[in-house]
Amino acid sequence: MEPLRVAVIGCGTAGAAAALFLARGGHRVEVFEAVRDPGAVGAGIMIQPTGMRVLARLGLLERVLARGSRVERLRCVTDRGREVIDLAYGDLHPRAFGLGLHRGVLFEELFHACRAEPGVAVHTGCPIEDLRADGPRRFLVEKSGAERGPFDLVVVADGARSQLRDDAPLTHREARYPWGALWFIADDPTGVFGGTLFQVVRSTTEMLGLLPSGLGPRGKTPKVSLFWSLHVDAVEAWRDAGLAPWKARLTALEPRCGPVLDQIRSVDDVLFATYWDVVLYPWNTGSVVFVGDAAHATSPQLGQGANLALVDALALAGALSSGAPTVSEALERYSHARAAHLGYYQWATRFLTPFFQSSTTSLAIPRDLFMGLACKLPYVRTRMIRTMCGLERGILFPDPLPLPDLFASADDGAGDGVYRSAP
Ligand SMILES: Cc1cc2nc3c(=O)[nH]c(=O)nc-3n(C[C@H](O)[C@H](O)[C@H](O)COP(=O)(O)OP(=O)(O)OC[C@H]3O[C@@H](n4cnc5c(N)ncnc54)[C@H](O)[C@@H]3O)c2cc1C
Repeated sequence: MEPLRVAVIGCGTAGAAAALFLARGGHRVEVFEAVRDPGAVGAGIMIQPTGMRVLARLGLLERVLARGSRVERLRCVTDRGREVIDLAYGDLHPRAFGLGLHRGVLFEELFHACRAEPGVAVHTGCPIEDLRADGPRRFLVEKSGAERGPFDLVVVADGARSQLRDDAPLTHREARYPWGALWFIADDPTGVFGGTLFQVVRSTTEMLGLLPSGLGPRGKTPKVSLFWSLHVDAVEAWRDAGLAPWKARLTALEPRCGPVLDQIRSVDDVLFATYWDVVLYPWNTGSVVFVGDAAHATSPQLGQGANLALVDALALAGALSSGAPTVSEALERYSHARAAHLGYYQWATRFLTPFFQSSTTSLAIPRDLFMGLACKLPYVRTRMIRTMCGLERGILFPDPLPLPDLFASADDGAGDGVYRSAP
């Protein structure tokens, strides 16, 4: 395909990664980011093997690994100590692991790489409110009414609450989850929470999560992210009640979190995140394509959002270099290529979230009775671990996505994208 003039709207995970891939594919890319001075904010996130593979392709993985924490397993127990989930990355591949990371680290690496990339121009403080068609090309309309363009391709990556999605006839579902999460990033100087993403649940209404989150964007002290599930309607009452009863409740569920809670001095130190369930299909219309949360926001229950966004970026670059005769045909190929993987994770997240965060407390009974047992069945366990790793594409697709080369060893062929999927 001839070099295209590309606009990317939003410089988060999806937008920045897409901009880098497309510029390296020979296209001229301009990124429009609403925030004037975007910074390293955010909670801890999990980077899965799928996300690591994309970061490796971008040449950013080493730097991200250096500021992240290796996570070897996911454990979830009830308040009575009954095992609900215990999945180890190493059971899929001896070298596999997840990476706990401060979201700001991922942002900074991608943002600085965009700034440094010769084929990418980044415009900050540029909220895009609308798109205007001019034949197959598109102009971007800023809040001020000023127009940018024309562009041969527009990549919409403006996040879960995308404004531009409203105008596209693609949206099948756009619903806010009734439950969100309080979160706080604390120092964990002795690495008490290292190695495991640990969760404690009681019924479906209480969930505490502790995620080792690397070193953060600056400094040398290990961090841990604390998450606490809360109904969106209960946030005000939580604030009004003050910290003492909440801290007592969390310490009762997990005594080790005392030193983390000691670092919280005010309710204002704790942030509340809400999440969305967004379904579009296809993700393209004409010369416009939606990627990342703008295209398929989910709850963070499976820890996949940033990873799906990274895979989108790689897949988009692949579709554009696939020999398609036109931009819109290339975008058709993109939607087709992403359908199984994204469809599976959207379904799995929507299905599983109420078992961990909802007012339907009866769901805790099958969860506590059967999920721990299911984790022990070899076939189910393998598919669950693949799901955790971001590699699954659905029950009808026995072949998972490839693992990153960094898990390869000379004798197992993983470097060629082939690996032994089950122990
Ligand atoms: C509590 C919580 C925990 C999470 N944990 C995980 C996890 O463990 N693992 C994981 O993979 N994911 C996790 N996620 C999800 C992950 O953060 C998102 O899926 C990911 O950031 C999506 O990237 P994105 O680029 O699509 O959107 P965003 O990162 O939201 O970026 C969108 C960008 O667009 C910009 N923008 C918005 N509107 C406009 C506009 N009109 N014009 C121009 N720019 C605009 C925004 O300023 C922003 O920079 C979590 C999310 C939450 C809330």
